[in-house]
Amino acid sequence: MSLIVVGSMAFDDIETPFGKSNKIVGGAATYIAWCATNFSPVKQVSVVGGDFPQEELDALAQRGVSLEGVQIKKDEKSFFWSGRYHLDMNTRETLVTELNVLGNFQPVIPESYQDCEFLMLGNLAPSVQLSVIEQLKKRPKLIAMDTMNFWMDIAMEDLEKLLAKVDVLLVNDGEARQLSGQYSLVKAAAAISKMGPKYLIIKKGEHGALLFHGSQVFFAPALPLEEVFDPTGAGDTFAGGFIGHLARTKDISFENMKTAIIVGSVMASFCVEKFGTDRLREIKKRDIDERIREFVSLVNFDISLV
Ligand code: AMP
Repeated sequence: MSLIVVGSMAFDDIETPFGKSNKIVGGAATYIAWCATNFSPVKQVSVVGGDFPQEELDALAQRGVSLEGVQIKKDEKSFFWSGRYHLDMNTRETLVTELNVLGNFQPVIPESYQDCEFLMLGNLAPSVQLSVIEQLKKRPKLIAMDTMNFWMDIAMEDLEKLLAKVDVLLVNDGEARQLSGQYSLVKAAAAISKMGPKYLIIKKGEHGALLFHGSQVFFAPALPLEEVFDPTGAGDTFAGGFIGHLARTKDISFENMKTAIIVGSVMASFCVEKFGTDRLREIKKRDIDERIREFVSLVNFDISLV
C-alpha cells in the first residue's frame, strides 16, 4: 500500500461570489494528500519556500504523509496562485501565478519511496513529472497523471513523451478536446488512448465524470449539492480519492476503477463545501461512508425490459 503524490504545495488567494479566502494553503499535492490519506499513507514529493507554515507540514505528517521528498527552500517563496470564480462557479480566471520555488523545481525521489506501487503525478510541468518516473528504479503498478491546457500550449513535446509512459490520464472535457483535437468525447478518448494512457478520466465539473478504457465507458454523476462554496482543488481531490481507493484495494481492474471514480466524486463533493482544504480536514470515515451510501441511492435503479 504505497502511494507517491507529486505536485504543488502552495499559497492560494481565492475569490468566489461568496467571499474572499485571503492567503490560504493550497496546491494540487496538498489537496491530493489531504484526500488520499483517508485511504492510504502518502509519500509526498514537492517543494515549498521558507514561508510555508510548519504547522501545515506537521498536520500532514500527523495524517500519514511522509515529507522526506518535500524540499524546503528556506530563502525562497512558495508557489502562489490566485483565481476568481464567475457567478456560475464552473468557470474561473487566473489572476496571479507566481512560480517562485516551482520555477526551477527538480524533484529528488528518496530511497525510501522506491518501493511505491502507485504514483499520482499532480499538475506540474510535464518534464518535471517525467523526471519522477525516470528516477523510479521499478515501474509502479499504476501511474496516473493530471495536466492542463497551459502545458498543451507550451510543452506539447514533453507532454507527449510523458503520456506514452502513464496508465491513467485525468483531464477536464475542454482539455480532452484540446489534446485530441476532437469535439466528441468518445472520439477524444480513442485518440488519447493512442498517445499512451489506456485509461482516461474526463471530469465535467458539476456534470460528473467519465471513465474510458478501450470500448468500455462508465459514467458517474457529481452529487447534486445545495451550495458550492469554493471549487478550487475539486479536481485534485477527485484524483486523491481515485488513486487512494486503488492504493488501498491494490486492485486496478476496470470494475474497481468504477468504484474509485465514485470515491473520487464523493471526496470532491466535500472539498467544494468550504474554502481551500478546510472541509477535507474535518471529515471522518463515517462522513465518507454516509455520502457513498447517498451516491449509491442516487444512481441505483431497477429497470425491467419487456
Ligand atoms: P484545481 O482547482 O483542481 O485545478 O487545482 C487548484 C490548485 O492547483 C490550487 O491550489 C493551485 O495552487 C494549484 N495550481 C494552479 N496553477 C498551477 C500550476 N501552474 N502548477 C501547479 N499547481 C497549480
